[in-house]
Amino acid sequence: MNDCIFCKIIAGEIPSVKIYEDDDVYAFMDISQTTPGHTLLVPKQHVADILAYDADLASKVFSKLPMIARAVKNSDPAIKGLNIVNNNGEVAYQSVFHSHIHIIPRYSSADTFAIRFSDNSADYSAEQLQALAAKIVAHLEK
Ligand code: AMP
Ligand code: ZN
Repeated sequence: MNDCIFCKIIAGEIPSVKIYEDDDVYAFMDISQTTPGHTLLVPKQHVADILAYDADLASKVFSKLPMIARAVKNSDPAIKGLNIVNNNGEVAYQSVFHSHIHIIPRYSSADTFAIRFSDNSADYSAEQLQALAAKIVAHLEK
């Protein structure tokens, strides 16, 4: 895609620090280094977000994720864990609209990265959960 910064990185038109490349994916250092070692895995094919993946592309991209994640984890004994993050849509903090997966090393709970899931379980009855689930199930692709 003409105006896409990640397509330009994949094409070598914009510099990047490469971790891994094959026919289908490109992995490189995120410029923001949210924590040291913060890496991005992207499909070479331009797709905006996860909603644009078919099963074939998903298998090409996600099958590489454990291998890249292990390399990041094993790069430093101080890395105790990883957050794998994939933002989809502006409301979900996506800022580059070429799909990408963040691999974010975690060194301690004091890292300059935080992700927190609020526990709203007390607000949902079993019936409400069933109703939400039914709406999702109705949209599963056959
Ligand atoms: P997101 O907010 O999920 O769309 O993440 C986009 C990520 O792309 C951010 O973490 C940026 O730091 C990163 N980024 C943007 N431009 C570049 C670049 N030229 N090289 C490496 N990473 C980049
Ligand atoms: Zn692109």
